[in-house]
Amino acid sequence: MLPNVKEFIRPETVQEAYALLEKNRKATVLLAGGTIVSQMRSSNIETIVDLRKTGLDKIVQKPDEIAAGAMVTAEQFRQDRLIADRYGDFFYDSFGLIGNWQLRNMITLGGSIAPRLGWSDITTCLMTVGASLLVYGQDDYQTLCIGDYFQIPSSERPIITHIILPDEDWRYAFYRFARSAFDIATLNMGIAMKLNDRRIVSSRIVCGSRPMFPARMESVEESLVDLNFDEQTPGIVRSLVYDNFSGGSNMIASSEYRNHLASVLAERAVKKIGEIIL
Ligand SMILES: Cc1cc2nc3c(=O)[nH]c(=O)nc-3n(C[C@H](O)[C@H](O)[C@H](O)COP(=O)(O)OP(=O)(O)OC[C@H]3O[C@@H](n4cnc5c(N)ncnc54)[C@H](O)[C@@H]3O)c2cc1C
Repeated sequence: MLPNVKEFIRPETVQEAYALLEKNRKATVLLAGGTIVSQMRSSNIETIVDLRKTGLDKIVQKPDEIAAGAMVTAEQFRQDRLIADRYGDFFYDSFGLIGNWQLRNMITLGGSIAPRLGWSDITTCLMTVGASLLVYGQDDYQTLCIGDYFQIPSSERPIITHIILPDEDWRYAFYRFARSAFDIATLNMGIAMKLNDRRIVSSRIVCGSRPMFPARMESVEESLVDLNFDEQTPGIVRSLVYDNFSGGSNMIASSEYRNHLASVLAERAVKKIGEIIL
């Protein structure tokens, strides 16, 4: 509950929204889909700045990339034609595993990344496809990778305006494990591979809900370079992920359990990529 809210403002530009935020950060909260903001408990918040009218709800093809506005909802993104043309069923299937249709129509891309949620399937999927962020703050517009956004102290953090998706021809797969379809993931895993014929040129192995924020497993990625993709590859990736996993325990699962899950989900994801290419 936010019992001391005095103002609800709906600015029409990002610049205006940022100026309102800067006026008094401690007493101001940005509103996107509202699924977290509506659960907040704080007596400090006096101003809500709703981003709905700032024009960040579109997905646009640019010369070498796709720019998705931060206010695009999970369901809108999932159903978008440009996204389907670029990524096939990857986002349709992966985002379809999140909550339910009603929730996905509220949850936004920006609102999923900004609060640095460990369990965010959306963030894991976006990191898997190599997405970066366009942000607006005291240094005007800047492009940052998702990890770098969180290096900025929260007292200076800019507004996420767009998620930038590179135009690349990789293969993608995502799996999550949760105790029920509606639960947050115990662990999630996204894998992307760039192949030349059957040789692995490059890969992204992203593990989230560890329970920490999603992170790439760079040592595994390095070990896969130049490997020939064949029937053995899923098992190889499974062992590498098992040996290189770093995660923790919480009330949902122990670190040991997550370690096992990570290796199993990685194997499944690579098998799925194999079904596309073999
Ligand atoms: C029951 C339930 C189950 C869920 N299950 C899952 C799940 O399984 N997987 C999953 O990935 N997600 C899941 N979610 C969604 C996730 O937990 C968050 O609720 C959601 O991602 C928040 O998005 P929002 O647009 O509603 O953000 P809001 O609540 O509007 O905002 C969240 C925070 O981000 C800040 N913010 C918003 N937009 C911006 C911006 N553009 N720039 C800077 N800061 C910004 C806000 O100020 C606020 O602090 C679930 C949510 C619910 C309610």
